[in-house]
Amino acid sequence: MRIDKLLAHAGYGTRKEVKKLLKDKRVTVNGEVIKQDRFPVDPATDHITVDEEAVNYQEKVYFMLNKPQGYVSATIDNVYPTVIDLIDDVHTDLFPIGRLDVDTEGLLIISNDGALGHQLTSPKSHCPKTYEVICDGDVTKEDIALFASGMSLDDMTCLPATLEVIDVQKHLCHVTIMEGKFHQVKRMFLKIGKPVLFLKRIKMGSLTLDPNLEVGSYRPLTAEEIHSLA
Ligand code: URA
Repeated sequence: MRIDKLLAHAGYGTRKEVKKLLKDKRVTVNGEVIKQDRFPVDPATDHITVDEEAVNYQEKVYFMLNKPQGYVSATIDNVYPTVIDLIDDVHTDLFPIGRLDVDTEGLLIISNDGALGHQLTSPKSHCPKTYEVICDGDVTKEDIALFASGMSLDDMTCLPATLEVIDVQKHLCHVTIMEGKFHQVKRMFLKIGKPVLFLKRIKMGSLTLDPNLEVGSYRPLTAEEIHSLA
């Protein structure tokens, strides 16, 4: 990574301001004064200072994104923009932890922590995920019981899921599943004959979607939130 980019992202000013810091000989890398703005650095191994103070650059980063519709949960795609396109950050190894369909909104963790990604998405983790659903039809007691019993889909039997009606008139429910199979929530509602019209993830493990986060925006996770996930 270029030193000017790193310093700008670490909060040392605009690229222009950082360039001046370098020109004024206020930056060192491994004890040597560096003036060149394109100087390559590895934040994991290089010791970088500005005015003799160590630069605190985080190697692992964690963001909470309120995913909008129309974005794919991947790092590259030929058709849709990706959720990574929404994140303005210097780290080049970011990825979404888990997947939401292109037309699904809501809570998505973006990070470069592969171990956490594996921990939360491994089928054995049974990480609970809660979705807000608007479906086409009235949800009945029988539907709730079927979800709770571990519903069979074509190629799989689901773990017991919690289905709660939030607003009868609006057909608004909350569903919590313990796994994350392909189109799982949509397939479960199709099975009861009430197709999903709107889907939004509102919880994942210990994390709740921040109600102040507009659709399409993101914020870093707090230290407490990161700790609670691990
Ligand atoms: N279930 C689905 O059907 N779609 C999602 O995006 C997430 C869960």
